[in-house]
Amino acid sequence: MNTIIIGSGPAGYTAAIYAARADLKPLMYTGLEPGGQLTTTTDVDNFPGYPNGIDGPTMMNELREQAERFGTKIIVDFISKVDFSKKKGGIHKLYTQNGEEIKSKTVIISTGASAKYLGLPSEQRLIGGGVSACAVCDGFFYKNQDVVIVGGGDTAIEEATYLAKICNKVTMLVRKNHFRASKAMQNRLVNFKNIEVLFNHEIEEVLGETVVEGVKIKSNLDNNTEEIKATGLFIAIGHSPNTSIFKGIVEMDESGYIITDKISTKTNIPGVFAAGDVQDKDYRQAVTAAGTGCMAALDAERYLQEI
Ligand code: NDP
Repeated sequence: MNTIIIGSGPAGYTAAIYAARADLKPLMYTGLEPGGQLTTTTDVDNFPGYPNGIDGPTMMNELREQAERFGTKIIVDFISKVDFSKKKGGIHKLYTQNGEEIKSKTVIISTGASAKYLGLPSEQRLIGGGVSACAVCDGFFYKNQDVVIVGGGDTAIEEATYLAKICNKVTMLVRKNHFRASKAMQNRLVNFKNIEVLFNHEIEEVLGETVVEGVKIKSNLDNNTEEIKATGLFIAIGHSPNTSIFKGIVEMDESGYIITDKISTKTNIPGVFAAGDVQDKDYRQAVTAAGTGCMAALDAERYLQEI
């Protein structure tokens, strides 16, 4: 193979469109969540070219069709191991979960990032039963109800204000005595009378057997606990990049994001490129992911011409 693309979000599909049009005959492994994070959102209003917005799953289907139109072969499977050559011009080996080996001269990593959870057993049990990491996807189900959101960053505030427009009351739990969010985002909160912020509070347990009925919270100042009734719990504490299979092989930062050369998508391994959220913890937008996907395909094409 010339080019294998791992992951099928906006970065992966854009890389596929460019690589296919350059006649590299790319092969894409979609991963376990074909279409990536955007398949869990409703309206995408900020992607250029859609004046009336587009829903996430439709947009990803259209990107997929566009990639296929130029000859990308798409395989719904998961790469579970890689063996990358360190030599320029070397052959990289990838393995599917069934142990099938695929060889390629270039690899584009676009495996994205996933939402972080608190890790409490009661939280894990109730994912899909009222626990969610995406207010925009699931907020609608809690119309006129009381919900809780955890986190003090920009995402938490953005999601809290989104929920406040739909729900009766939003209780926001911030573990420190201050937000991590920017001042501009914090200022948005003053417009919402139905958001209550509890600083220095953490969740001890999510209450409910099969659906969320509330949360038991603890003050980390005096360890006092109390229960809040709620039907929904939203976790907005950040994302982690999906890079576990590349650990020790591709150079990463302390949070596990792949490090790319400043003005390109090159990793420390010749012929291996990274695009999208897997190498971007700052912008994390569909359009920036698509932009780096394009860059990765052009970088791969140039590399193939050089070797
Ligand atoms: P951040 O990492 O910025 O914030 C995570 C928040 O969750 C922090 O308040 C953190 O607390 C808290 N947290 C982490 N782990 C836990 C835990 N186990 N229990 C309780 N709280 C926890 O992530 P975001 O997703 O908010 O933002 C990521 C990036 O995206 C940022 O660069 C942000 O600026 C950007 N962004 C920008 C937006 C915009 O400008 N419109 C919108 C959304 C995101 P602590 O501070 O104590 O570590």
